[in-house]
Amino acid sequence: MMALYKPHMAFLTEHAVDPDKRRYAVAEEGPRHYIDIDRYGEYPYPLLPRKWEDAVARYSADTLLQYGIAPWHIQVMLKRLTHAFREKDFGRIMKNSAEIGHYIADSHVPLHANSNHNGQYTNQKGIHGFWESRVPELLAEKYFDFFIGKAVYIKDPGAYIWARVLESAKASDSVLSAERELTGLFGDDRKYAFEPRNNVVVRQYSAAFTMAFNEKLDGMIERRMRQSIATVASFWYTAWVNAGQPDLKGLTDKRLTETEQQEIEDLNRKWNSVGKMIGRQEE
Ligand SMILES: [Zn+2]
Repeated sequence: MMALYKPHMAFLTEHAVDPDKRRYAVAEEGPRHYIDIDRYGEYPYPLLPRKWEDAVARYSADTLLQYGIAPWHIQVMLKRLTHAFREKDFGRIMKNSAEIGHYIADSHVPLHANSNHNGQYTNQKGIHGFWESRVPELLAEKYFDFFIGKAVYIKDPGAYIWARVLESAKASDSVLSAERELTGLFGDDRKYAFEPRNNVVVRQYSAAFTMAFNEKLDGMIERRMRQSIATVASFWYTAWVNAGQPDLKGLTDKRLTETEQQEIEDLNRKWNSVGKMIGRQEE
């Protein structure tokens, strides 16, 4: 299986962001990236049925869509990927592998499992990008270790992804409180710094504040990122096994069809022409 992915790593990386591009073009896309699980009571949210049909019966599909459907959508994506493997459909394997990777990564981010997703209720605006972009940009290459072991077969993908989402939900409180405490310590003048970015000077979380935040979280960001990589690899592997372990040798030098190329261009065009995400904003 890895023999198929390795030569196409550039494709997978490039198209892992397609689901976020689609948030500018398609209204249904937004809710697939998060779940405001705190809307359903208290951790570990026993009132919220983990099965889609049961959850719809209790809360209605409208409510579920309003608060986000990430853990359910990942299971839909797993089915699509499994189907693509079964059909040995190169384009669909690549597309669904890249995209399920995106949704899985999102669901490992604590603030994708909290209605206060950008600190907007607690005067902590910007914390979303701080956790998932600023900290990794500054520290990942030098300090984070992303080597993970072998992918494993996941017997119950639903239970598995819910467990990860609950970890995120639990961690989100620490993320918000760590930022709040450090803000008190640093004050705004040391919390932010002006730094050049793409040739423009922008206000950024300062390097000192960023490092203090990472330290206060005691390796959480690296752990969540490592867990996320392991989950993606294991979901890919599980899809392949559930498809009957098809022989993929004939696919290694396949290319996308014209229609698939067209789909990608369409998405890029829409993304470029619309200035704003539909629904929830994330910056
Ligand atoms: Zn996303």
